[in-house]
Amino acid sequence: MQDLLTEIAEVAASDPDRGSVATYIPELAGIDPGQFGIAVATAGGEVFAAGDADTPFSIQSVSKVFALALALGHAGDQLWHRVGREPSGLSFDSVLLLERENGIPRNPFINAGALVATDTYLAGSSPREALGALLRFIRAAADNDSIHINEKVAQSEIATGHRNFSLAHYLASFGNLRNSVDKVLGTYCHQCAVEMTCRQLAMAGRFLVDSPRMPALVSIERRRRINALMMTCGHYDGSGDFAFRVGMPGKSGVGGGILVVSPGRASVAVWSPGLNRYGNSKLGTEAMERFAHRTGWSVFGVPHSGKDLT
Ligand code: GLU
Repeated sequence: MQDLLTEIAEVAASDPDRGSVATYIPELAGIDPGQFGIAVATAGGEVFAAGDADTPFSIQSVSKVFALALALGHAGDQLWHRVGREPSGLSFDSVLLLERENGIPRNPFINAGALVATDTYLAGSSPREALGALLRFIRAAADNDSIHINEKVAQSEIATGHRNFSLAHYLASFGNLRNSVDKVLGTYCHQCAVEMTCRQLAMAGRFLVDSPRMPALVSIERRRRINALMMTCGHYDGSGDFAFRVGMPGKSGVGGGILVVSPGRASVAVWSPGLNRYGNSKLGTEAMERFAHRTGWSVFGVPHSGKDLT
């Protein structure tokens, strides 16, 4: 496994075509696209890493996985009255379907659906309390108390997040927000500004890997459902392509991070800030395709040899 990760990091390091860094959040616009990191936390308790696996990055929409787990902890299946479970086939910040579908976002991983999840875990508490609970969840999953929110990134997004504000106002107009738009947006932007390294994110992703050794933060049924949503909706309108190429549930963020789960085996985090046309990490996606091919890991079948890298 270590040799494979080292090889994958070397291939990525020498690739001249690195995609484009997200510029719509000013604080992220200056990130060096030359970086690449990958880490694997196995069900057996081992961690492997290569490249810039210890460099912190903005997890952005990867945070929606933790937010969904927290929102389900608050509302249970009631959440599904306020948000759907279908891929949108549209970009992450699209307003198109919200009007046609009466303010019920297609899924919890597009921005509109994630705002409903944030509104749900906010419940009656203050943003500080809600974000404290979110950080406690992530820190417990990662077994690391140093994970924090980058305030500059959060403020940068609040100052420029006109689309997210319009989505939140739209949701409010249909009665699908319980808290004020400002409160939900402020909390959401801080949630997206959580900073982690690949090593920390791979550790945190273990809560979605079925194994007796993993932290039991959610029930098995919930874990399976979150994984199903990651597979179908975790890469926006590139979700089908990611499932086709990688064959494992994954959630991307515009910071260039991707969290991938191989149920029963491991959690994988990959990061490279340059994005492809879907807004997902270009080299991260290519690295995961290589990783899946070489390990034989896929939720859609076992390799012919019947053995894999675990
Ligand atoms: N904070 C970002 C936004 O709402 C997250 C998008 C993403 O990572 O895909 O625009």
